[in-house]
Amino acid sequence: MVRAIVGANWGDEGKGKITDMLAAESDIVIRFQGGSNAGHTIINDYGKFALHLLPSGVFYNHTTSIIGNGVALNIPYLINELKSLEEKNVPAPKILVSDRAQILMPYHMLFDAYEEERLAGRSFGSTKSGIAPFYSDKYAKIGFQVSELFDEETLKEKIKNVCVQKNVILEHLYHKPALDPDELFATMMEYKEMISPYVCDTSLYLYNAIKEGKNILLEGQLGSLKDPDHGIYPMVTSSSTLAAYGAIGAGIPPYEIKSITTVVKAYSSAVGAGAFVSEIFGDEAQELRVRGGDAGEFGATTGRPRRMGWFDAVATRYGCRIQGATEVALTVLDVLGYLDEIPICVGYEIDGEVTKDFPTTVKLSKAKPVYKVMPGWKCEIRGIKNYDDLPENCKAYIDEIEKEIGVPITLVSNGPRRDEIIRRK
Ligand code: GDP
Repeated sequence: MVRAIVGANWGDEGKGKITDMLAAESDIVIRFQGGSNAGHTIINDYGKFALHLLPSGVFYNHTTSIIGNGVALNIPYLINELKSLEEKNVPAPKILVSDRAQILMPYHMLFDAYEEERLAGRSFGSTKSGIAPFYSDKYAKIGFQVSELFDEETLKEKIKNVCVQKNVILEHLYHKPALDPDELFATMMEYKEMISPYVCDTSLYLYNAIKEGKNILLEGQLGSLKDPDHGIYPMVTSSSTLAAYGAIGAGIPPYEIKSITTVVKAYSSAVGAGAFVSEIFGDEAQELRVRGGDAGEFGATTGRPRRMGWFDAVATRYGCRIQGATEVALTVLDVLGYLDEIPICVGYEIDGEVTKDFPTTVKLSKAKPVYKVMPGWKCEIRGIKNYDDLPENCKAYIDEIEKEIGVPITLVSNGPRRDEIIRRK
């Protein structure tokens, strides 16, 4: 059975924890898109980890962790992440890397940083992990697949050609030092040494695993609203964040994805630029941010303070629809226990009209939130194990969200630890 775990919002929904939990029942966990530009926070018996490239299954002996072909593969980053597990005494995980995954080249990070520098105040707030230049090159067909590391002569030639193009831009647009093809080739040979032990035809591996009835988990990064097609373009990421893309980024048939667990946060937070209709500011935001504590004072990858807001039912219903959510895990509910009243954004007012449908970016920038205010529950809900034991107002908040988004909320997360989860239905 193939199951996907994805986010319905702007990322940081707490997918890491849910994936870590569900990975316990999985034989294989796969990353199918993105790169080291986002992170999952996982807290378990070995300690606290911020994983960026490794799938969340790496803490279990019985799981195989796969870096799928859709990922932006930063090889030294992956190796360092593996080392950091070793340092905390995590047993060596079983890792497979797709021979069709493309390599994040050292110059992708440079171009990312140079472009942000050039755009200055108009920048996208990139994590400078090289993700946008990487995917641009992939679709411009000048990227490098892992398999190409193993054909040295062709590789050398291709590097030379790519450097010609890159150096024109470096010299004339960015006024930065040129790339040296020989140096780049030498780096690629180092990358080859590092990655060789893990490389395989992961699509074929998965084909066989599906035939054998293995439990397979597709682990998404970021959320629906950062999808390049369906998100808040252009303030999006450069690869699809949708469960549907799991089929492509892992190399499996789309109809094998039977369950799409969509993670939704009980309030909103976002890192980076872009319209954020239910955003709150000042002391009100700071209080939520600080109380969020573990749950999101700072982005796991960037260390930047997150932007905060109330739950946005318009964005989340859309986020769930576009994911094809079959069930929802509602996270970080515990953090809201201090509030007397909790607003939920149930509509957008655009040019004097109220809509419940999430608009395109141009209209989104004009949207003002329409709130429905729910009573708070004013107590700590961490430690509660049974749904029925939650305060009435807390259950009413969950019911309201469920009614708004139209997808069953089956899991409620009331703390950062793996066992702080309530199964609802
Ligand atoms: P991801 O990008 O969706 O994987 O989000 P992360 O897992 O990196 O970020 C979510 C943060 O919330 C992490 O610091 C988690 O430890 C924390 N977290 C997850 N679920 C809960 C929860 O139910 N309550 C609290 N208080 N924190 C949570």
